[in-house]
Amino acid sequence: MSLMLTKEDLAKYPFLKQTTSYVERMQLNLGDLAAVEYSGILRKALTRIKDSIERNVRLTDLTDPESEIISYPLALALVYGSKSNWLLNRFATIEAKRVEEELRKEPRDKILEIAKSGFSWEIENANLKLEWEEFPFSIPLQSYLEVATSFNDAHWKLVNRYVKGGFVFLNSGSLTRLVSEGFKIRIIKRASERELHKFRIPEALIPYLDEILMHAQENMRFDEELPQGLVSEARPPCIVAIMEDVKFGKSLTHMARFALTTFMVNVGESVDDVLKLFGNVADFDEGKARYQIEHIAGMIGSRTKYKPPKCDVLRSFGLCIGMDEFCRNAKHPLNYYKRKLKIMSGPGGQTGARDRKE
Ligand code: SF4
Repeated sequence: MSLMLTKEDLAKYPFLKQTTSYVERMQLNLGDLAAVEYSGILRKALTRIKDSIERNVRLTDLTDPESEIISYPLALALVYGSKSNWLLNRFATIEAKRVEEELRKEPRDKILEIAKSGFSWEIENANLKLEWEEFPFSIPLQSYLEVATSFNDAHWKLVNRYVKGGFVFLNSGSLTRLVSEGFKIRIIKRASERELHKFRIPEALIPYLDEILMHAQENMRFDEELPQGLVSEARPPCIVAIMEDVKFGKSLTHMARFALTTFMVNVGESVDDVLKLFGNVADFDEGKARYQIEHIAGMIGSRTKYKPPKCDVLRSFGLCIGMDEFCRNAKHPLNYYKRKLKIMSGPGGQTGARDRKE
């Protein structure tokens, strides 16, 4: 017997068939949503996009489920209308993370219902108990592969899964991940459909689209490709100071540890390299440190890759040490690093200053 899904459920899970029917029944025109009477919905849609640009994963706002439901297709239309792949990926990723967070709070039978309604997967209640794990669900192999091939983690490879009779057996956590990733893939794939290539945002919404694009542009600068691996000569003084403390085995404050780890992860250092760096620290615990680095790198947990704190924050923690001329206009240690790298690789600069770590 299928479960009754509430309006709140439709707001939380925009990929459900029931949500699509609900929106269709309202017969709203995209251009109309710029009108004053819909300003609450438009504001919600813009907040959704802004959150995705800034990587804020928020739970669904259920104070007014109806406007939350409509804000999703409006936000999606603005994202498609932007023709920005960067924004599309960011929006799909953050929406998928929000869904994952919501699903983690749901009971098993609800997760099953949502997965079935959202994707037409023939998932079954398996209730399989093996010695080492319980598998409440089974999914046809083909449906599993549609999504699981996009994960890099070995844990998703079929050889590491319990497969029998053409079905892959899953626990609630894995099904939750599969659903949220399936949602992300759907958002991204739809953008390449022919009708969306031709799609243009209605005139009345263009000022809002411009606002979004400007905000995206500011944040995109931060995501520009950095060389893979640390270039020692471009390190900001604050990071040099923390690295000196590490070299001498001093124990670091939580903020110093966080600043150094986020900085290293964002300049493309691997988890193992960051781990090696902390090997000298007095209270080093490899298992704990690996977990924290992987978390910061977005490989586990919330899957958000954290940025280092801004200069203001480092200053308030007494970590802005030895400022130099590059610090003058820097608001962020990564801006400092990028600017210095650019100057080093420009004419007369030390090109190929990539002789890496000390
Ligand atoms: S101004 Fe910023 S980049 Fe420079 S040392 Fe201080 S915190 Fe680091």
